[in-house]
Parts: sequence; C-alpha cells; structure tokens
Amino acid sequence: MSVLRKPARTFKIAAFVAAFLASIGMNFAALPAAQAQQASAVLFQNVRIFDGKSATLSAPSNVLIRNNKIEKISVAPIQADAQVIAGGERVLMPGLIDAHWHAMLVRPTPVSAMADDVGYNNLLAAAEATATLMRGFTTVRDMGGPSFGLKRAIDDDLVPGPRIYPSGAVITITGGHGDFRQLTDLPRTIGGMLSRMERIGGSMVADSPDEVRVRAREQLMQGASQVKLTAGGGVASPFSPLDVSTFTELELRAAVEAAENWGTYVAVHAYTPVSIQRSIAAGAKCVEHGHLMDEATARLMAEKGIWLSTQPFLNLEAASALGPSEQAKMRQVVAGTDRVYALAKKYRIKTAFGTDILFSQALAERQGAMLADLTRWYTAAEALTMATSTNAELLSLSGPRNPYPGKLGVVEEGALADLLLVEGNPIDNIRLVEDPARNFLVIMKGGKVYKNLLAQEPSRR
Ligand SMILES: [Zn+2]
Repeated sequence: MSVLRKPARTFKIAAFVAAFLASIGMNFAALPAAQAQQASAVLFQNVRIFDGKSATLSAPSNVLIRNNKIEKISVAPIQADAQVIAGGERVLMPGLIDAHWHAMLVRPTPVSAMADDVGYNNLLAAAEATATLMRGFTTVRDMGGPSFGLKRAIDDDLVPGPRIYPSGAVITITGGHGDFRQLTDLPRTIGGMLSRMERIGGSMVADSPDEVRVRAREQLMQGASQVKLTAGGGVASPFSPLDVSTFTELELRAAVEAAENWGTYVAVHAYTPVSIQRSIAAGAKCVEHGHLMDEATARLMAEKGIWLSTQPFLNLEAASALGPSEQAKMRQVVAGTDRVYALAKKYRIKTAFGTDILFSQALAERQGAMLADLTRWYTAAEALTMATSTNAELLSLSGPRNPYPGKLGVVEEGALADLLLVEGNPIDNIRLVEDPARNFLVIMKGGKVYKNLLAQEPSRR
C-alpha cells in the first residue's frame, strides 16, 4: 500500500514520457500537464453551513471547491468557472466519520467471513463501501479486518467508498477476542501453520511480546494507520468471557513501541477497568468500547488524555447474528452504555463516535440512526460535532501515517472537500441522518460529487 509513494512514481513515469516525447520533437508542456491542472471546480451557492464545530448555522454562504479541497467560503457571491449547485439555503455540512468500523465484516456472516472465497468477500465489502458512502459516511476508521485492498481500490476510484484508516488484522491472544478458531484446531503447533483467519489477515494470534511485535510491524508494513489489539474479552468471540484481561502489560507495550516507532498509536478493545488501565499503563492512546469502566478509570483516562471511542449500544440488535452466549455478553455491554456516556461527560473524556456494526447489512442501514441515538446524552449539535470534527481529531493521531493528510470533519477553507448537502436542518432534527437516501441531496468526497439529487430532479431546486 503506497498511496504516499504513488505520486512520486507517477511523476517519474511522466518525466520519462516527457523526455521521450521531447526526443521525438513533441512539446510535452502543451499536453497532459495542462489537462491535469484543469480545475474540477464545484460552487455551492446559497447554503447555510454547519462547520463541524459550531452549534449554529452560518448565514447563507457560497462555497467553492477546487480539486479536492475547499478553496473559498464567502457570504458575497463567488465568481468561478465551476459546476454550480444551487443550495436554496439548505445545510452544507462535513461528511460523517465512523471511528469504529469493520469494512470487511459488515456483510458476511461470522462463518462466511472466513470460509468464503477471498475475492468474493472483497467484492462484497466493495458493495458495502459504496453503500457506506451513500449513507454520508465519507471516512471510516477500520478497527480490524483485511481492508488494505479495498482501501486501495477506493483511493484509486475503482469503487466508490469512504476514506479508510486501516488497522489491518486485529492482534489477539490465544482464546482472546478475535481468535475465531475452534477447539478442534487446538493445540497449535508452535511455529506451525497459520489458521484460516490469520491467512486472510482478519486477526493474528500473538502470545509473547516478540510475537506481538512481529504482527504489529506486519500491519504497519501493509499501511496500517494505527494498530489494534484486543486487551480484554469481547462479545463476538466464542472463547473470551467479557471480564478477562488478555495481553500482559509487556505484550501491550511491545505493540505500543512498534506503533510509536512508526509514528502512530495503539488502540485497544477493552471493556473493563483492569484491561483499560493496563492498556493505558502500556501506552495505548485510544480505548475502544469501555462500557464496563468505573469512576477511577474514567478519571485516569481524562487525566492522561486517552481517547474513548465508544458506541451507543441500546439493545441486543448488534448481537442479532450471534449465538445465545454472545447475546448474554451483549446484554452486559448494553447495561453499561448509559454509564460509559455519563462518565465520558462527567470527566470530559475525549470521546469519538463509532458504530462497530458487524455481520449484518440490515444493521448497517442503521449507521446514521446510531448517530442520532447519541441525543440520549448529547444535543444534536454535540452529536454531529462528535461524528465530524472530533472524530477527525482522533484520526489525526496517526500522525505521519495518516493516509489522507489534510483537514477532515470541518467545513473551512483549505479542508478536504468531504461534504453533504442536507434537506432540512440536522441541528434541529438529527433524525434526518437516519434517511440518507432522501435527505442527503449531495454527497461529495475529495471534491468529487458521488450523488446529486438536485441535478437529477431540477424541480427540487
Ligand atoms: Zn470492533
């Protein structure tokens, strides 16, 4: 994966072609360079802006997009040679960000994710990626699964989909969350064959600091923007009770060192106080879930500036594709949801919004509805801020490994142009995000329009 290297390579090829054309007497300067620079500009006229931060909308404004960025925002008319989208005082807002997504694991079942042909599962994930973008989620932080190929295809614009901040394979211990082997697969031959889930890059089992280091470095080598470990038990895994802590502090620290040497950070799946506190001691920067945390742990997270990336699980829906023992664990998590948000607010923990939707296309259609569910604890403006500028702040923790340098989650000059034009005001009525097909009239990512109902239905202008 070399998104960052690619322009250099393209440049070398272009330089070679230019030299060749010059050698046969053709003037390269007049040819493709001019075309490549040709502005792909879009002008949103007369929109009220939710900028990703402020609780109020702007006055009617005009927003000029050139190439992949927001070039100019002005209440005065903007003159430009651009495709005009007449906003009619509708709301322009940043594209949504899901901080806990599994692009490869939304549509398959737990069994088919491992058993089905890898090519088929990638195409399935591509279809879901397009659906994700069409729900207005222009960026996802992928918290486990072999999403590197999908990311590349999306970045190359082969497939419409969100920007992906990939973790690659989740790193787990024997029997931990993410170890999907069966008892019949035991005992493992030390130094022997990899299991199916390891071969497809879904998760890697590591039982010592050295093994953790290898697996963390392998994900970074493939382009992981952060490293994900499971520090405690989880719902969707057959052999990890929720209360268990899994990695030792030394094992966790091995991953943290590998990630920090690479300029980025470790995020841990952890529900319990012990697993969260141990991860923080080892240097992890972000806790995924945290539903079973206590006051002391919340205070520690706030003091240390540790991120909480959690999900509004309000019922057993998220475990609907799973068995009775997993549903029992889900019940415990759901019971902790009110508490985790109360503690996050009480201690002002930096809190990100994610959905962690697994194994259900139907559930994925509730991605926006889960965002709206945050209004159980937050105002609509706070919820929308969390899913845009706050989530973007978490993404930027990947530092030099950020695959999409530039500002995300805000509408401001110079930011990447990931934008939604909304029918209605989501700050007044956040439930609008539950029906993206109807209410997101325009969906833009990187300055490119992926959906424009106004163009299709001139009568709506
Ligand atoms: Zn997850």
